[in-house]
Amino acid sequence: MSPALDKLQAGIRATGQSLRVNGGSSASFVIETRGLRKVYGAGSAEQVVLKSVDLKVSEAEMIAIVGPSGSGKSTFLHLVAALDMPTSGTVYFRSRALQSLPESHLEDFRNQSVGFVWQRHHLLPDFSAAENVAMPLLMRGARRAEALETAATWLGEVGLSAKARQMAGELSGGEQQRVAIARALVNQPPLMLADEPTGDLDEQNADAVFNLMQRLHRTHRLTSILATHNRALAERCDRVLSLDRGELKPLPGFSAAQAAH
Ligand code: ADP
Ligand code: MG
Repeated sequence: MSPALDKLQAGIRATGQSLRVNGGSSASFVIETRGLRKVYGAGSAEQVVLKSVDLKVSEAEMIAIVGPSGSGKSTFLHLVAALDMPTSGTVYFRSRALQSLPESHLEDFRNQSVGFVWQRHHLLPDFSAAENVAMPLLMRGARRAEALETAATWLGEVGLSAKARQMAGELSGGEQQRVAIARALVNQPPLMLADEPTGDLDEQNADAVFNLMQRLHRTHRLTSILATHNRALAERCDRVLSLDRGELKPLPGFSAAQAAH
């Protein structure tokens, strides 16, 4: 299991006071990164993955990040999700610098403010679809009956009411990813971060999963950042940015007018 996932699960397990943020007047962007730099290794093994990334994401925007494998897309999303810390620079969530928050508040941020969709669904195969979706609620101490009821609503939203009792391991790849999306959003986070969410799916399922994410993004007024290899899907977002050699830039040739609204 990846360290990032361990951290996410630790975040889900964490209980306690919810993260209070300044959602008011100064919070013009939901996410802002300033001078975000990430360097792995040291000495001759040093690798600068992100040089100095500045990004502003407005409320209800859906942004795609494209870039070759190894360009740092996952690294960037992990920094925004506070699953990892930058070498320098800052991530602001509604004007609050994540780097200034104590670990307990970061756990609340990961748990309550971020819905993270992974390339691999990471469902528990021997639990039902409904139990998997309910898991973040159960880990926060919700009562089982209530958690399952909320999970059922979310399974309805992703079109899988009929599969609620089926073991996650028995579902198709596309269905598993839809369950994972329901699980990511069951806490009603304002932010949806997705790391190659359609990367393991065939074209038809990739399309269906993207359509679902776009619909949920709109109906729940989410702010979403999606890393993807799939140019056609990326170009259906409000903005497409390209990550290359440590720099995040608007994708040449893409105009926002092309994005379907
Ligand atoms: P992408 O998601 O675009 O494929 P990644 O963010 O996964 O790119 O990786 C960017 C680069 O950083 C790669 O060269 C990768 O090997 C390296 N990298 C990622 N995570 C780590 C880590 N925890 N330790 C060392 N190097 C890493
Ligand atoms: Mg990646």
